Formats: sequence, C-alpha cells, structure tokens
Amino acid sequence: MKRREFIISSVMAVGGAAMLTGCGKKEVQKAENQIVTRKFNNLNIPLLGFGCMRLPMRDGKIDMVELDKMVEYAMAHGANYFDTAYMYVDAKSENAIGEILKKYPRESFFLADKNPAYLVNSKEDVHRLFNEQLKKCQVEYFDNYMIHNINKNTISNYRDNDMYGELLKLKKEGKIKNLGFSFHGDPKMLREVINEHKWDFCQLQMNYLDWEVINAKELYEIADEAGVPVIVMEPLRGGGLCNLSEKAAAKLKEACPDQTPASFGLRWASSKKRVFTILSGMSNLQQMKENIDTFVNFKEFTPQEEKVAADIAKIIQEQGEINCTACRYCMEVCPKAINIPAIFGLYNIYKSSNLPTKSFMFVYNYNALNEDERADKCINCHLCSKNCPQGLDIPALLKKVEAAVKSADTDR
Ligand code: SF4
Ligand code: SF4
Repeated sequence: MKRREFIISSVMAVGGAAMLTGCGKKEVQKAENQIVTRKFNNLNIPLLGFGCMRLPMRDGKIDMVELDKMVEYAMAHGANYFDTAYMYVDAKSENAIGEILKKYPRESFFLADKNPAYLVNSKEDVHRLFNEQLKKCQVEYFDNYMIHNINKNTISNYRDNDMYGELLKLKKEGKIKNLGFSFHGDPKMLREVINEHKWDFCQLQMNYLDWEVINAKELYEIADEAGVPVIVMEPLRGGGLCNLSEKAAAKLKEACPDQTPASFGLRWASSKKRVFTILSGMSNLQQMKENIDTFVNFKEFTPQEEKVAADIAKIIQEQGEINCTACRYCMEVCPKAINIPAIFGLYNIYKSSNLPTKSFMFVYNYNALNEDERADKCINCHLCSKNCPQGLDIPALLKKVEAAVKSADTDR
C-alpha cells in the first residue's frame, strides 16, 4: 500500500467523535457505509466528488457552518474529493473550502483546482495564479490540477503561453500530482488538445441530455480512445436534470419508480467506464446525503435505463429550453449585472411546465427580479457570450426571453 493510501485508510479507520491527530488535525469519524471508488493512477478515488461551484449560501455569503457539516459528512463516507476553481462563487470558493479542509490531515483528502486560462496572458500569469490558489486553499500542492475551460476563446491563451509546459514544471516540483484540463470546445479541438501533450486526465461536461445536445458522446469517445481518464462535470446539468418537467418526470417514474432524478442522472454518468469521478455541485447537506446514498448503495446503470435516459432527453429537447447550466461565468463580466442565469432559469421553467398558471407564474417571477437585472437592461456588448462555456448567444436569448415575457403577459 502506498504511503498516501495508508494514511487515508488509517484516517478513515479511526472511530469516535471528531478527534484531533497528533499534529492538531481533525480525525475523520468513519461511517459504516462508504461510497464506491474507482482506480485512477493507483489511487482509489471516490466515484462522487464534491464540486465547489454551488456552495451553500446564507444572506449572500457562503454558509461556512453548513459547508463544515457537508465536508464532515462527505469525509466520513469516503467522499473525499473536492473540486474548486479560481472564479467559483465569485472567487470565494477556494478560500472557503481551504478554510474547512485545513482542519483535516492533508493526505486524507484529494483537492482539485484549475488555472483560469482566460486570465492568462503570460507564462508568469500561470505561476502567479497558481501560487495565489495554493495560498487561498492553504495547501502545499494540488492532487489534480487543470487548465480551466479550454474553448474557442481560451485556446490561444493555453497555447501561446505554453500553459502545459509551465504547469509541467510545477508537477515536477511536486506541487501538482496529476495534470489535466477541463474542456468546453468541439470534438476537433479536443482531439488536437489531447494529442498535443501527455495528460493525466481531462474533465468533460457529460450528462444524458448533453450526450446529444453538445455532442458529449463524441467528446467522451475521443478521450476514451486516447486512454485519457475522465472526470465528469455537470452530470445533472446545473441541477436542471433534478427538476424534470411533469412529462419527463412521469417517464422516469413509470420506468424506474425507485429512482430520483438526481440519482438517475448521477448513475447515468457512472456508466461510462473511462470515468473515475463525477462532480456534483451540492448546495446543502440534504442534497449531499441523497447523493452519497446513491453511491453507497450503488447500482450499475442498465441498458434498459440507457433507453429511458435517451427518451427523457428527447422530451427535454422538445421543450425548447435554453441550454444554460447556471454556472454564472457570464455574470463575472457583464457590466450591467444582468441576472442571466436567473432569467434563463425562469424561462426554462416556463417552457417545461404544463400547469395552467405557467404564464402567470413566469411573468410574476420575472417581475420580481430587480429592475436593474432584467433582460431589457442589456447593452448588447457580447462580453458574456465570450465567457459562456455553453457557447450561448446570450444577448439574442435575452431578447427571446423578453419577447416571451411580453407574450405570456397577454396570455395570462
Ligand atoms: S451583452 Fe448584455 S448581458 Fe451580455 S455582458 Fe453585455 S450587457 Fe451583459
Ligand atoms: S448563460 Fe452560459 S455562462 Fe451564463 S450561467 Fe448560463 S451557461 Fe453559464
């Protein structure tokens, strides 16, 4: 057993209430049931990872009390993989997760972070940002580290500044254990990026809806053929696949009555064998308990369920929703602070609802938004679209939503 695995298993083997180790760190109370793991570079990685993009919030701030409980629960059940990034939660995610994880022995958890390619204009930037991240997370190294969000707008930052070469130096110094990238481009670009370097892993957006919608199937197959291990991001599409329309939910209930939409979506992602962990952006302890339960009592996804997933995806596509995952990257650059994910979220609920009150509710909820953050305040600068990993033409879609609100207003 490697030293790291020995330490993890030793930590996990300690019972009793939260105790402190000799070095003043918090020992983990091992739960009876542990989540399933998959092998990655001779390590046992939990199949469910904690995505720190949608942390619990209270009064506009990260709810550190809830986050502490969530991390404790996750660690106790072996869900000790945490994934953060520079810009998550308005650039506060790294500080928050670092503050909580510093209580635990460093070897007892896996921490992943990402170098924000869109902010990199020189080789020095790569190192400046990396060092800032180490400090924010209060660690000496990252287990998995990525070039964040390679897409058509950031590919030149990644290539022109030789981000891979610079990060490889840090890997050789032991500050990065495994080097990868997260990706939001097309299949041609993925093939090029994968062939350019020797990657330890890649992180792809995969869920049963995007399998066809953004051609995640082809992206996965490229990584699979190249033998590059895959981490799944957005397995529930920003929570969208947890809140199915009545029609889609009825389909799931009929075929898989014992499955919640979240469990179904997470298990779908686990059915791909090159995948070693699936990130879920959990926002409260209840969500975490439900997700961990899925991976404690894990059942392999069946071919029959594959068919159900494809049928549900078809229903959702027919509803004409906007392909927004509520990642909020657009909000970082919008000079007018338009609440883009909220506006698209309301529109998607409207499009997926069969309720007779749907027009009333759409207009009511839209008008409940602050006037300054509504679609009509958009100045068409297109800065947001450049930051959108889904490649959405946001200003055009805002106009579409505005028109839908007007039309719904006359319907109700
Ligand atoms: S196009 Fe509109 S929504 Fe997008 S950044 Fe500019 S003002 Fe904001
Ligand atoms: S519009 Fe794009 S960038 Fe903005 S929240 Fe949705 S997916 Fe993210």
